[in-house]
Formats: sequence, C-alpha cells, structure tokens
Amino acid sequence: MSVSLSDAKSAELYGRAIQRLPGGVNSPVRAMKAIGRDPIFIDRAEGAEIVDVDGNRYVDFVCSWGPLIHGHAHPEILEAVHTAAARGTTFGAPTLGEVEIAEEVSRRIPSVQMLRMTSSGTEAAMSVVRLARAATGREKLLKFSGAYHGHLDGLLAEAGSGLATASMPASPGVPASATANTIIVPWNDGEAVVAACAAHEFAAILAEPYPANMGLVPPHEGFLELLRNQATANGALLVFDEVITGFRVGPGGAQEREGVQPDLTVMGKVIGGGLPAAAYGGSIELMNNIAPAGDVYQAGTLSGNPLAVAAGLTTLRMLDEQAYLRLGATTEAMASGLRDAAASAGVPVQVVSVPGLFTVFFSEEPVHDYAGAKACDTEAYGAWCRALLARGVFPPAAQFEAWFPSLAHTQDHLDRTLDAAAAAFGEVR
Ligand SMILES: *Cc1c(COP(=O)(O)O)cnc(C)c1O
Repeated sequence: MSVSLSDAKSAELYGRAIQRLPGGVNSPVRAMKAIGRDPIFIDRAEGAEIVDVDGNRYVDFVCSWGPLIHGHAHPEILEAVHTAAARGTTFGAPTLGEVEIAEEVSRRIPSVQMLRMTSSGTEAAMSVVRLARAATGREKLLKFSGAYHGHLDGLLAEAGSGLATASMPASPGVPASATANTIIVPWNDGEAVVAACAAHEFAAILAEPYPANMGLVPPHEGFLELLRNQATANGALLVFDEVITGFRVGPGGAQEREGVQPDLTVMGKVIGGGLPAAAYGGSIELMNNIAPAGDVYQAGTLSGNPLAVAAGLTTLRMLDEQAYLRLGATTEAMASGLRDAAASAGVPVQVVSVPGLFTVFFSEEPVHDYAGAKACDTEAYGAWCRALLARGVFPPAAQFEAWFPSLAHTQDHLDRTLDAAAAAFGEVR
C-alpha cells in the first residue's frame, strides 16, 4: 500500500525560501533533490525524533549529519549551553573550556597531542592542508575520489556528499590552478596509491579512514596501513579526516579501531555537540608551526566559541565505554534488520556498517569505491526514502551519505523503523 506525506506547510515555506535562499536551503543535501522531492522544514526535535512544520513526527537517522550522537536536545547538553551562554557568548580571549576540550581530545586520540579549534570541518581541512604544505615545503596532495573534506577549492575535485548527488565532478568557480596540485586515485586501490607516490612528492595524503561521503565504503584489509607506509616513504604527511568517524566509531575514532596513526587529524561534527566547532591536530612539533607559536597563519573570530566548547565537551564526557557498546549494538541491529527486510521483499541491497554508521546501497554487488557507489540504483533509493518519510522515518536524503544512529534511538525506534523499512521495500520492489 502506498502512503504519502502531508506537507502543505513545508511546501508553503519552500515557496518563500526558494526566493531568498539558493535552492531554498543553506546546504545542498537538505533540498532532498536526490530523492526526488522538496525539502521538509523542521519545527523541533527531541531525542531520536524530529517533528516537521506540518506536525509529522519521524524517527531521525540524519541527526544533523553526525554531530548529535546523543540525539536532539539532550538535557545535559542544553544545560551546559545555557550555563555557558549566561556567562557570555564569545570573548575573543581564551577560556578554561578550550583547554579542557583539548586535553579530553588528546586523552582519546594520542596522535593529537595539540590541536587548534575552528568553526567548521571545511575550515579545519583547509588549515590542515596549509600546515602540511608548510611543514613539508611541498604543494601536491593525494586525495581519493568520492572523499569529501569540506568545500575548500583545492579538494573540490571528485568530492562526494552533496557533490555526488549534484553530479558535479568539481565545481564551477574553482580555478584549475587550485586543483592542479591535487592528484586523485580510487579508494581501496593500493596499486594506484603506490603509482601516484612513485610519480609525485606529496605534502599530504588525505583520507577519510572510513569514507562516509560516497555512502559508507570501509577500507579493505591492510589499505590504511598501506597509506601509512606510502606516506612515510614518500615524505608526505598522512592526514585522517575524522570529521564523521572521530568520537563516533569508538572513543579514539577510526585510527584507534584500525591501529593506524596519522600525522594530522581533522575533527568536526561530534566535537561540537550540535554547535559549530571543529578542530585539527597532531604532534606538538607539527602543531607548533601554527601562529602564534609558529608562522603558519590561521585564525577565527568564533574559534573555540564557549557555547560550542560547552556542548562539545559535555558530549565527549558522556561518551563512555558503555555508550559505544550501545551505539554499536544499535547500528548492528539496524544493519541486520534492514538486510532481512530487503531480502524478504526481494530487493537487492548492500547494507554496509561500522559502529555508529551505516549505508544502504541499492546494488547487487558489494561497493568498494566511488565508481561502485555511483553505479547503484539511486532512483530506487529515492523511492524507498520517500516511502520511509511517508511512514515516519527520516533517512539521509541521498545514497551518497551515511545513516547516523544515536544513543537516543531505543528498541521501539528500531522496531518502528524496521517495520516502515519492510513496507517501503515492498513498495519499491
Ligand atoms: C562534514 C564533513 C566535512 C566538512 O565539515 P563542515 O563542518 O560541514 O564544513 C569535512 N570532512 C568530512 C569527512 C565531513 O563529513
């Protein structure tokens, strides 16, 4: 049975938004173009549930695309933000919280002995590139197709995420000179990495250790070790972009799970607990190149903002071992439940997961790289998502994204989602 969503108020707001905001939104994936519908405007949210302006209630698997690992409006995080706000929202001078969050991150991720905070992941990635170039005296970067490191010019080549769905291999407005030093190879292709390293002297090899912006495509056994070894032999710095995986897939991110230490790490999303914060960090020696300790300039009016730091620090402190076990179990229950539901409906899918993240690829074949992700049936994914929305589940509105379960998702949320998923698979079969 096909059901549809009542969305009169969202439609009316979209009519206004489209006249004042490009595409009606402030970030492309929110437009829901990739699943063939107009955006849904949100009124409020609590825990794992989000409510739109028409009063439709959904189990939310976007969770702001990663920051909300404890779900929406967590009382302890709200309390921390309220307390911080009452003491002043920004000072332009350092605070206790910034020292505490740097210490907390360093405890969890030993390769990050020192860090610099920024307001977005894009800014952190941009700064890490500048630092890597300064520290090595080289300009070239190795990047993987389908990997997204924010929208800085130099890395806006074969990037995933919103660019994957908009099918822009790069973006107009990025000068050829900006990407001329960016070499792109397919993910999980060890031979291509070795060949690129033989041909170029790189400042940095940049990787999402568990790429999640072409959908989730984990590394093959030994691939991250190969990146480590190739970077060292090449004289390049290994940069792990853990904006999604940091503090989500485990206390110390993907680098801890995989036992591979990068030289520099980019963090974002969870580290801000739902407020704008990100960071980059590495050894004391490398990070002391950053101004004012060193001469690599990088700054920010709202960097280390006290509200964002309060939200981030509270978020991190609540992430104990139990929390990770629970998030892992939730992820696994969703992944296996979705596999079963698809199999019962006779819909060929690949459900790929790591603790805290999963993707549903509509494909008969396993997905190993960006080409594989692009070969999936994105029309079927779109139809399935529309059917999920109509049944009260808010999925990532593009197959080139991950689902973000949270610690607020209960067994009841999972049961409701899997029931809706089974019906939705039946509808798209
Ligand atoms: C989201 C994301 C970024 C960019 O972070 P913003 O805060 O959106 O600028 C960078 N890298 C990865 C892996 C991301 O998922």
